[in-house]
Amino acid sequence: MTDSSQSPLRPGDPAAAFSPHDHAACTAEALKRADRLCAVAGARLTPVRRRVLELLLEHHRAMGAYEVLDRLAAEGFGHQPPVAYRALDFLTSQGLAHRIRRLNAFAACSHPGQAHAPVFLICEDCHAVAEASGTVVRAALDDAAAAAGFSVAGATLEAYGLCRACREARA
Ligand SMILES: [Zn+2]
Ligand SMILES: [Zn+2]
Ligand SMILES: [Zn+2]
Repeated sequence: MTDSSQSPLRPGDPAAAFSPHDHAACTAEALKRADRLCAVAGARLTPVRRRVLELLLEHHRAMGAYEVLDRLAAEGFGHQPPVAYRALDFLTSQGLAHRIRRLNAFAACSHPGQAHAPVFLICEDCHAVAEASGTVVRAALDDAAAAAGFSVAGATLEAYGLCRACREARA
């Protein structure tokens, strides 16, 4: 995702994770947004927290806590697992990152600060993760649940498969 060819993709576009785009601008915008949201929430985006968000944004790819820790350790942030876990906890609690259960990993949120019910589109080869709108899927789920006399309090919608680049690489 380092291709800087002009692209009409906007930050948060579900296709962004899977398509070439101006990633430098995309990352800068996401970090600026995170700074703003933390300031509003009175939360501190410390250097290590900010760096972890940057790592998650790097390739629009989900990363496991130990992979994050390896990167932090290499950069002198410390070798103890809590360093990574605390930063990831912070980012998820502030809505800046999501936990991707399928991969037991974390991905930067594409729509921080906005109410959204995403369907995570997870590439099983490169672990790129995009957030598509899950509004329609969620409504269908609520209907099916209601028919079973069940009231949905929350749902994690994860779809897995292959992104275009990985599909083409296999072809
Ligand atoms: Zn990007
Ligand atoms: Zn999100
Ligand atoms: Zn892929």
